[in-house]
Amino acid sequence: MKSNFTYDLSIIGGGLSACVFASKYLQSNLKKKVALIEAGRGLGGRSSTRISKKFKGWELNHGSPNLNIYNSKNNLVLKNYIDELLENKLIKTDDSDLVLLDEELNLESIKFSEFSQGHKYHSLFSMSQLAQNIIGLNNSRGNIDFYFERLIVDLKFYKDQWILTSKTGEEFKSKYLVCSTTLLSHKRSLKILNINQIPLRKAIPQNKDKKIDSLLNYLEKQSFTPRLTFLIYTNQDYNYKDYYSKKQRYFYLTENLENKYKFERVIFQLQDNKKLGIVVHTKNIDFIDSYIKSEDEDFFKLKIFKNFNELFESNPSINQLTGNENISIMKWRASQPSGKQVPLYLQFSRKYRIGFCGDWFEGEGFGRIEGSILSALILVNKFMNYN
Ligand SMILES: Cc1cc2nc3c(=O)[nH]c(=O)nc-3n(C[C@H](O)[C@H](O)[C@H](O)COP(=O)(O)OP(=O)(O)OC[C@H]3O[C@@H](n4cnc5c(N)ncnc54)[C@H](O)[C@@H]3O)c2cc1C
Repeated sequence: MKSNFTYDLSIIGGGLSACVFASKYLQSNLKKKVALIEAGRGLGGRSSTRISKKFKGWELNHGSPNLNIYNSKNNLVLKNYIDELLENKLIKTDDSDLVLLDEELNLESIKFSEFSQGHKYHSLFSMSQLAQNIIGLNNSRGNIDFYFERLIVDLKFYKDQWILTSKTGEEFKSKYLVCSTTLLSHKRSLKILNINQIPLRKAIPQNKDKKIDSLLNYLEKQSFTPRLTFLIYTNQDYNYKDYYSKKQRYFYLTENLENKYKFERVIFQLQDNKKLGIVVHTKNIDFIDSYIKSEDEDFFKLKIFKNFNELFESNPSINQLTGNENISIMKWRASQPSGKQVPLYLQFSRKYRIGFCGDWFEGEGFGRIEGSILSALILVNKFMNYN
């Protein structure tokens, strides 16, 4: 970080909402300097890609594998943006197979899940690369300084500027602030960051700004669904039985099957090197709890192989696994918000020059990429109207 340098804007987080916001903000603020500060190693957040150092050549989308839009017909802002991503060849219509496995293991292609309704798109690259390319659309002048592996733990609004402090003690100063995560404004921050006051509350004390008070009250009533994703690196010659060749293939399980096998969905992801990766998602709380309490990761890996082979035993497309494939596990403490949706009118405080975006705002896209993108686009308009 440049010492004593003050940015026009700091953005906390590097997920899709932050990337869409940064990109659109720079389109109309050509000369502004922006700091994007992200706790992880790269962009993408909950829509990112595991690029394994251990297993070379594999790029598995371990959060959201694609995006689905319910509402673009009724929402011109969203529609125009999706069109822009299509025109720039960052995404394309996802016409991959999407199959529901029911109890009799019959195959049915119907619309059934919050992640499968509406129009589906997938990235032409990995999901992390999509986040990078979204920023790249409007960052040709290099206005953004990226700071990765910086977890912000403290916020201050002092002498008319924002001062953010990372866990390692670095300070970032800016005139405006955008928070794309709830971590600094939700009570879970207390335990995760080992602090005794929610950072946003500390920065803006109660009764100083009605909007911030109200936003914090809404977030008080929001909780988060945990998920586990198991990334299976199949053996060299593993393939489909039926020579299916599209980029991804999705198998969703009905609730009964999900209870039995603990899998929410199984996503096959064809790699550039033609190997076939498999990502298994689970949100079964008992299964997640027993995984977290268990010291024995190998036991869970064997369980995944066993359940996978049982589930697909008589499937006409899917081959069995041998059990000696490598697996890595990703634990999502907060994969999706649930409970109270935060109203969009609380997104921006003029008084404190702070804005918020992400999938935690109200609307049909709540808890999904659709909500992240739309909230970012709406926030950009609020910034433009303010200036
Ligand atoms: C396993 C899984 C499957 C999913 N499947 C789907 C799906 O099929 N379809 C769909 O639409 N959605 C899906 N979702 C939800 C979707 O991924 C999210 O809605 C979307 O990615 C959220 O983007 P965001 O930018 O709002 O938040 P995030 O992606 O969470 O971005 C916030 C970023 O802020 C960073 N951050 C947080 N706190 C700090 C801090 N203090 N300092 C610095 N950085 C910080 C985080 O590391 C993160 O990168 C899924 C999510 C998961 C986890």
